[in-house]
Amino acid sequence: MVEFVNVSKKYPGSHYALNNVSLKISDGEFVFVLGASGAGKSTLLKLILKEEKLSAGKIIVNGFDVGRLKRKEVPYYRRKIGVVFQDFRLIDTMNVYDNIAFALRVINAPSDYISKRVPYVMDLLDLTAFAKRFPEQLSGGEQQRVALARAIVNNPDLIIADEPTGNVDPGMSREIVELLSEINRQGTTVLMVTHEHSLVTRFRHRTIILQDGALVADSREEAAYAR
Ligand code: ADP
Repeated sequence: MVEFVNVSKKYPGSHYALNNVSLKISDGEFVFVLGASGAGKSTLLKLILKEEKLSAGKIIVNGFDVGRLKRKEVPYYRRKIGVVFQDFRLIDTMNVYDNIAFALRVINAPSDYISKRVPYVMDLLDLTAFAKRFPEQLSGGEQQRVALARAIVNNPDLIIADEPTGNVDPGMSREIVELLSEINRQGTTVLMVTHEHSLVTRFRHRTIILQDGALVADSREEAAYAR
């Protein structure tokens, strides 16, 4: 579960990037985060990942009080969160297999587990044929599938995707959200920032809208209100 309680974030010398945001995301939900550039979407994700410090309020993620995590607890906390970026962020000098395996090697997973888990995840994302290719030998959509594989290989409770379809063509965008939706159906909570209204209307997941640092709409609240 992800819970924001009256969360504000003010960067030094700047205005409030998030202003008194309260929000609850239950386990297993898929939530789109919409909003114009500068609305606070990346800040919301960075606060969850503890890449930025809260100015006020409280964030609880999977039982962790994020604001109170000690520096040495942060890597352990982040292990259960898979992250996907707009620009893929694969390691250019590693092939597809190693890019995915790397996520397990850095946490010292046993090698016999890695040699079973990586092929399983590659198969799930239809990447087996690309195992030995390097990122530059793949299309944008294929690279994003590798990034998705890397994000899920450690069985995260939560996936955070920051405009994962921003650098791929529309057909591939749908496929990426299709894959995220499938991962979500298997139980992983997904929080995805997007600019693409067509995806939001097509996939009909819960949608929250940020504007100038405030949460101005939440399709779940509206649905509850309509009942
Ligand atoms: P979005 O992801 O929706 O485009 P951001 O969360 O990146 O929005 O930014 C929200 C606001 O916070 C913007 O006004 C932006 O200029 C400001 N901001 C973001 N990062 C910083 C920073 N490191 N220092 C100062 N201001 C920042």
